Amino acid sequence: MKNIKFAPLLFIAFLIGGALPTLGGKVPAGSSSHGYRLVPFHLLDHRLEFVPYKNAQRERTLLGMFRSAGCAGQNLTTELVSKNRPPQVLCRLQGQTNSLIIVGGHLDHVRRGSGIVDDWSGASMLPSLYQALRSQPRRHTFLFIGFTEEERGRVGSRYFVTHLTPARLRRVRAMVNLECLGMYPPEVWEDHANPVLLRNLSATARYLGTYVPGADCDRIGYDDAMSFRRFHVPTITIHSITQPTVRVLHTRRDNLSAIHLSYYNRAYWIVAAYLATLDAQLPVTPRQP
Ligand SMILES: [Zn+2]
Repeated sequence: MKNIKFAPLLFIAFLIGGALPTLGGKVPAGSSSHGYRLVPFHLLDHRLEFVPYKNAQRERTLLGMFRSAGCAGQNLTTELVSKNRPPQVLCRLQGQTNSLIIVGGHLDHVRRGSGIVDDWSGASMLPSLYQALRSQPRRHTFLFIGFTEEERGRVGSRYFVTHLTPARLRRVRAMVNLECLGMYPPEVWEDHANPVLLRNLSATARYLGTYVPGADCDRIGYDDAMSFRRFHVPTITIHSITQPTVRVLHTRRDNLSAIHLSYYNRAYWIVAAYLATLDAQLPVTPRQP
């Protein structure tokens, strides 16, 4: 992710609007059945900091984290995408319907740096999001996916989406992509986001008393959300890339010192509430072809 141009930052609005995170809450829909329960931030941060260097170890580590979060048995699977490469990791939270909300981050990283920002920050957050949502019955089925080989041209996400049956593809109501979190307070890639998903993000942030600024990565190469948009799946990418922080990516500076845990925790706090909002607000019927 390089050479971005981002919309004017409303950091002051963020500072004014910022509210202190709490360990759980309700979403704008208001019903307690749509609530969620955050994991303690020290657990979230531990998962982030426990970052193996090799891509294959990341796959095994994410599997272990999902297991410890309670995702196991037939709900926890791997998908081999190409020979001699680590598989991608999928954790399913079964809802009341088979309508799907997909939440993704990618497991692989380039050689330079530790790839903790790009994108262990997204992948290692998935088990904690799973835990936050499993506290209540869900209308949608959630699929948390640590994609493989994003850096080699979105190989894993393209494989996943092209292997869905047409009927299952129409069941996907949203794909929420988590990319490069924690360098800055969470932002949204606005000009690529589906308008309904964007409105729900704004509503969630307002409800929490905060704000998620738009920061468009116009000249960015690609991200896993693009694989889904090609098939008309509504997507949204949440990240922390700004003109200064983009220089960290794909360099030796992509290491733990690039991450501010308070920003990272804030991203988790907002995304957990956001996913609960989407579950409450999005239809559970198949999308029109
Ligand atoms: Zn990435």
